[in-house]
Amino acid sequence: MKVHQFDAVIVGAGGAGLMAALYASREIKTAVISKLYPTRSHTGAAQGGIGAALGNHEEDHWEWHAFDTVKGSDYLADQDAVDLFCQEAIEAVIELEHMGLPFDRTPEGKISQRPFGGHTNNETGRPVRRACHAADRTGHMILQTLYQQCIKNNVNFFDEFHVVDLIMNDGRPAGVVAVEIGTGEVHVFHAKAILFATGGWGKVWQITSNAHTLTGDGNAILFRRGIPLEDMEFFQFHPTGIYRLGILITEGVRGEGGVLLNDKGERFMERYAPSIKDLASRDVVSRAIYLEIKEGRGINGKGYVHLDIRPETVNKYFAEEGSDRRIDREYVESKLPDILDFCRTYIGIDPVEEPMPVQPTAHYGMGGIPTNIHGEVVIDENNTVLPGLYAAGECACVSVHGANRLGTNSLTDLIVFGRRGGQAMVEYCKQADFVPLPENPAGEVEAELERLRNASGKTRVADLRAEMQEVMSDYVGVFRLEEGMAKAVEEIRELKERYATDLHVDDRGNVFNYDLLEAWELGALLDIAEVTAVSALARKESRGAHSRDDYPKRDDVNWLKHTLAYQKPDGGIELKYKPVVITKYQPKERVY
Ligand SMILES: Cc1cc2nc3c(=O)[nH]c(=O)nc-3n(C[C@H](O)[C@H](O)[C@H](O)COP(=O)(O)OP(=O)(O)OC[C@H]3O[C@@H](n4cnc5c(N)ncnc54)[C@H](O)[C@@H]3O)c2cc1C
Repeated sequence: MKVHQFDAVIVGAGGAGLMAALYASREIKTAVISKLYPTRSHTGAAQGGIGAALGNHEEDHWEWHAFDTVKGSDYLADQDAVDLFCQEAIEAVIELEHMGLPFDRTPEGKISQRPFGGHTNNETGRPVRRACHAADRTGHMILQTLYQQCIKNNVNFFDEFHVVDLIMNDGRPAGVVAVEIGTGEVHVFHAKAILFATGGWGKVWQITSNAHTLTGDGNAILFRRGIPLEDMEFFQFHPTGIYRLGILITEGVRGEGGVLLNDKGERFMERYAPSIKDLASRDVVSRAIYLEIKEGRGINGKGYVHLDIRPETVNKYFAEEGSDRRIDREYVESKLPDILDFCRTYIGIDPVEEPMPVQPTAHYGMGGIPTNIHGEVVIDENNTVLPGLYAAGECACVSVHGANRLGTNSLTDLIVFGRRGGQAMVEYCKQADFVPLPENPAGEVEAELERLRNASGKTRVADLRAEMQEVMSDYVGVFRLEEGMAKAVEEIRELKERYATDLHVDDRGNVFNYDLLEAWELGALLDIAEVTAVSALARKESRGAHSRDDYPKRDDVNWLKHTLAYQKPDGGIELKYKPVVITKYQPKERVY
């Protein structure tokens, strides 16, 4: 076992981890540990844009961005955090520009912006151009830019190291344990400050836009160490994934004028969101698609609708709406090159010739590790800080996304709160000492890895994972019911039992043993699935992405509060609740 020592250790090399590393490494000895090579992180797959009220094309204000974010969140976001987020978004995007990020430009050379779901002119209610973008590869550009800056700053990278545990000593975080994937060797990282930026957990569901590696590791690791998980019942289904594959088709397609059509050729969003139509917030559009399909208006009666970006269709609707915007084939090719490429490559459909078949796809976790606005992890209803522990990015819950995130607000979240986390670690490390390592710091997790390595039951990891994904998609998906969610809780517990007693792992070796590490990841997914189902079952209302047929209304009297799920010592889950911070925006019914 090798032991390393750094002031700050950051787990995860996506946008959030790299932004934190960049800031921390300016003043303290910083390491980034990542199970993927950094530029393979999911941030690199982000397509449509990063939101900030720059007002480069038309009037816009951070206050409008803030109100849209709170409204989009179905009033569950903490409003103090949202205000700060929308103000800092502007300088964050400009900071990226100064680092060299190649944004698309307006003819006068400003950063180009396009409309996105839920982003509006607060006076007219019409879509506003707020999504700053580099074609449909915005995340790729952010990730490459930040990685280059980190290399320049001499950040210490431990690439392809899989973190499997948080080391605690007497209730205080002291470091992490990681497996070097190439060799199987166990490493201990001793640190004063530890920041988790491990991304999402879309792999809990069958159809997802998320990469194979998005298994909620950081959330599960902290949960097992007694840290609560916040608002896990709120998981976003993006309306437009490629039918059956789940690959994301960015909202930028609708931002550029694309429309959703049912089997009768109707632009059905006109019925669900008369003023903003196809650019309503994601929860609203996903539910509309589900209802169309359920009522038999999916294409040919099947489980999908059409997304149409053909210039002739788009121009027809622009003209109907009295807009003088028009697009042509070259414009679509320049603004959405990757989307066209995905469709041509994976389904043999050319979106400038034919509409795309789409269905909702599991996309983004609004909940996560509870933090305050400095990225510090908070562990109870009173927001008590656990010194030395931080989280940022999708794995964290500040909460600026509440019950439903607006498109483009995740990339902004990475930059704004990644930076704040990095800065907070610097301040902390200047005055804090190392918490000593306990005796045998990796012992517990090494025993679990040995159990998995030698697991010789009958159930294969891939099969158990598929069963979990089916249960969660059937019962804890876009629409939810008491009975189904109760069944999900019970079935996930049975799957956990089989995970503990009947798992089968083939590879007993040390070198690149992905068989073993995927088994470990499945353990994380099962914990996350259980927390999600238990938190969802308890919440007897519909809000944002949590939509119950048996409680179809939002209930602010009883449920305007954040869920905190704790692992009990006997393995069960205990739920507590904390208030939502309301400042300027009193909860209202959402109308789009
Ligand atoms: C297809 C797609 C398109 C999207 N488009 C947009 C968009 O246009 N705009 C927008 O705002 N948002 C978008 N999102 C959402 C956004 O991209 C993500 O929420 C965000 O990039 C997450 O960044 P992150 O830094 O938190 O984590 P990630 O970028 O997912 O990185 C996670 C990191 O953690 C590391 N890691 C995880 N577990 C471990 C472990 N056990 N040990 C060591 N390392 C570990 C990984 O190696 C990786 O480096 C999109 C998401 C998807 C899936």
